[in-house]
Amino acid sequence: MLWEDVIADRSGLYYVLHMFRAKVVDNFSAAHHLRGYQGDCERLHGHNYRVEVVVAALELDDMGIVMDFRDLKLSLKDVLKEMDHQYLNDLPIFTEVNPSAEHIAEYIYARMKAHVLAPVRILEVAVWENETCCAFYGEHA
Ligand SMILES: [Zn+2]
Repeated sequence: MLWEDVIADRSGLYYVLHMFRAKVVDNFSAAHHLRGYQGDCERLHGHNYRVEVVVAALELDDMGIVMDFRDLKLSLKDVLKEMDHQYLNDLPIFTEVNPSAEHIAEYIYARMKAHVLAPVRILEVAVWENETCCAFYGEHA
């Protein structure tokens, strides 16, 4: 079964799809504040963000893997490098939208999509602001 079939077949029916998933984790540190937020987060502060990226494939390649962890980690490191030790509000990508964990996850997802080639799909990006708070962006297959 191809991903395209799965997506084309979604007509309101819900069914379980079996797949392989792989995840890499990395970190970056940055400062931000949330414009318009009523509370602590409106003031300048920083996080040591933990970022998790999950990719998936319906079938493994000839080597028996979803995708080379090394490639995935290098791609993620490249994307995070732009935000590491930055004041996120100053970056062009966050001048219009708040640099919330949700928007950071959405941005990483969009950037990582170019590095994950079919038939592998990027499924989800999780951005942890601390040990107890995490936002996700991604899709359900
Ligand atoms: Zn914050």
